[in-house]
Amino acid sequence: MDTTLLNFTVGPVMSGDEVRAVGGEQVPYFRTAEFSALMLENERLMLRFAKAPEGSRAAFMTNSSTGSMEAVVMNCFTASDRVLVIDGGSFGHRFVELCEIYEIPHTALKLRRGQKLTQEQLYEYDGQGFTGLLVNIDETSTGVLYDSEMIGAFCRKNRLFYVCDCVSSFLADPFDMARCGADVMITGSQKALACPPGISVIVLAPRAVERVTSRTVRSMYFNLADVLKNMERGQTPFTPAVGILRQINARLKQIEADGGADAEVARVAAQAEDFRTKLRELPFTLVSEAPANGVTSVHPLTADAFELFLTLKDEYGIWVCPNGGDLKSSIFRVGHIGHLSHADNTTLINALKDMQRRGLL
Ligand SMILES: *Cc1c(COP(=O)(O)O)cnc(C)c1O
Repeated sequence: MDTTLLNFTVGPVMSGDEVRAVGGEQVPYFRTAEFSALMLENERLMLRFAKAPEGSRAAFMTNSSTGSMEAVVMNCFTASDRVLVIDGGSFGHRFVELCEIYEIPHTALKLRRGQKLTQEQLYEYDGQGFTGLLVNIDETSTGVLYDSEMIGAFCRKNRLFYVCDCVSSFLADPFDMARCGADVMITGSQKALACPPGISVIVLAPRAVERVTSRTVRSMYFNLADVLKNMERGQTPFTPAVGILRQINARLKQIEADGGADAEVARVAAQAEDFRTKLRELPFTLVSEAPANGVTSVHPLTADAFELFLTLKDEYGIWVCPNGGDLKSSIFRVGHIGHLSHADNTTLINALKDMQRRGLL
């Protein structure tokens, strides 16, 4: 498999040289004071970049982010909850499916593909006895960004336990966990953290720490109380993806040295803006009513989206991100996260213009 392709997918994305260099090193033994110190530094930087309130904790999970979505549903909700799920695409729907599996009473607030969530729509569920809310802040399947602060105000008013899946929005879109009042935020290593897949991070605000440590969950691996107890000394209950945690450490320190989370968000925003400006010359329309910075969902007016993905991959050495299911022919996505530059955007636009010249667009 050719791994030198220019990668505009939404994950795994391209990593910078420093992260790749760490990936080439031997993986060390981890029950040591040195590894504990690295883990505690990872926690400190994750809490800082998430703008988590005082007393928050981070759980580093060796699983993809769906595993963390599952762990959060299992550890934070029971059959006596009533959860509102924002279901605007395949990731929102994943939370609906998790509630079904764990028999958590829930209602799906369904949105059309690409539709943003308005205050009016949300407040139709005001005062209805809900106890929690689950949302993917960037619904990555269509690149719709939901307003974490508007939803947070609704959750505060209704006293809802507020879970934000920020898997593709962390470090790509502005997010202030303390200000929006989120109890839990989830992210993963292979999105804007730009490391290989394998680690997902769950940040828990004090109310969430209280909740998971005072309950028992019927799981060994997804026992967040156990994870947090081990993390007090910078350790994990079981062998973690040690190498990726070391790559995350390099990446977090690099972000810190380059100006922190706000500077990284601004960089991704500029990368998205540059692409969307250049794209205007081509026969495409944008899908999202409220575009997230991390990804642009594109509808080609004159070509099949999946054919376009294949041609770019096989003839131009470029990966864009195909969509699945009923969106396969109509939408493809272009990511703006990872080690990408404005010059890379130009390379992609030139490839599309060449396809147009060849009559493929
Ligand atoms: C990528 C992503 C996930 C998780 O994907 P995994 O394949 O489990 O890592 C979850 N939610 C959102 C919003 C995502 O973008």
